[in-house]
Amino acid sequence: MNTPAIEGGKPIRESKLYYGHQYLDEADYKAVEDVLKSDYLTCGPKIEELEQKLCKLTGAKHAVVCSNGTAALHIAAMAAGLGEGDELITTPITFAASANCALYVGARPVFADINPETYNIDPTSIKAHITDKTKAIVAVDYTGQACEWDEILAIAKENGLVTIEDAAHSIGTIYDGRPVGTIADMTTFSFHPVKTVTGGEGGAVLTDSDEYYKKLLLYRSHGITRDASLMEHESDGPWYYEQVDLGYNYRMTDIQAGLLISQLDKLDMFKQRRQKLVARYDEAFKDIDGVIVQKDIDKSDTCRHLYILRLDTDKLKVDRKQFFEAMGAEGICCNVHYIPVYYFPHYKRLGYKKGLCPNAEALYEQMMSLPLYYALSDEEQDDVIAAVKKLTEYYHI
Ligand SMILES: *Cc1c(COP(=O)(O)O)cnc(C)c1O
Repeated sequence: MNTPAIEGGKPIRESKLYYGHQYLDEADYKAVEDVLKSDYLTCGPKIEELEQKLCKLTGAKHAVVCSNGTAALHIAAMAAGLGEGDELITTPITFAASANCALYVGARPVFADINPETYNIDPTSIKAHITDKTKAIVAVDYTGQACEWDEILAIAKENGLVTIEDAAHSIGTIYDGRPVGTIADMTTFSFHPVKTVTGGEGGAVLTDSDEYYKKLLLYRSHGITRDASLMEHESDGPWYYEQVDLGYNYRMTDIQAGLLISQLDKLDMFKQRRQKLVARYDEAFKDIDGVIVQKDIDKSDTCRHLYILRLDTDKLKVDRKQFFEAMGAEGICCNVHYIPVYYFPHYKRLGYKKGLCPNAEALYEQMMSLPLYYALSDEEQDDVIAAVKKLTEYYHI
């Protein structure tokens, strides 16, 4: 009898597999070493080189790199002019930062529900949540799959809303011929090590708007400028600069930028491998009774960041938690992305209650993220698939 390891059976794997891992090579090490031996550790030439590379990669007019994806969302919300009394519509199935950026500027996040098949924010639900206070939409390309941007952009246009694409998962994705970075008014990236390309930490905002670009540069660095055209007083001398607004120190170091320039050279390679792994999972799971495969958005040529295993819990004797623990005992360490943002105590204290987004809450009860990263081998992936098969068969009603 093929008993699950958690019940005393033999595990599929002895050594553990984790859900994500960065991939660095000799070129990356060399890129970092070169910066360390150069004159600039920050505010140096690698920053502009990376920004130009991101523009070239996506076709965006401007890129502003910063310390992390959360900072990118914060300065994007500031540039959008969001403040006290405004509302920002986003999804609950995301990392908290997508909603926190509204709180940082005194605005209120409003949660629209997800599409129950693609798991991205549902344009119909966005529409239903628009009030006269709504100012912006932060739509997250969840798992890397582009949102239904044609619909979202039409809604934004009709209602005069700013669109921010939280593309922490979707660098390298192309939506209907348009690379992520050129679709929304502003697009934010994260370069945390679990994401597709990494700088250790790092973030960026991309935009075609000259006006947003100027603001993003200011907010990234204290609201300080050396550009005479932005100053309010006469220059005192060559040392002179002015703080014309209130910003932060959200700068990226040249060490991070050097690493990212090198990482971006591998983006195509990362995308191809991730697509292949996703296709293998999808193929294996479509015939397993007890799991549900995430639906593809046809227009999205996706560079996938996460692979979501969704349990059809009506067909299983166990719940997500028991299945998750059983996977761990088989040597497959999964994760859950994400706990609905408004479940957190901080949001509860702000008046948010369970029940706001039924589709998101139902997904949360059934999902876990499986290992997906560039260096995951076919053999390792086969072990993941074998574990899912073993457990769904064993626990099937
Ligand atoms: C990772 C992530 C962020 C935050 O990025 P950091 O670089 O960790 O600050 C924001 N939104 C989503 C959807 C993310 O996955």
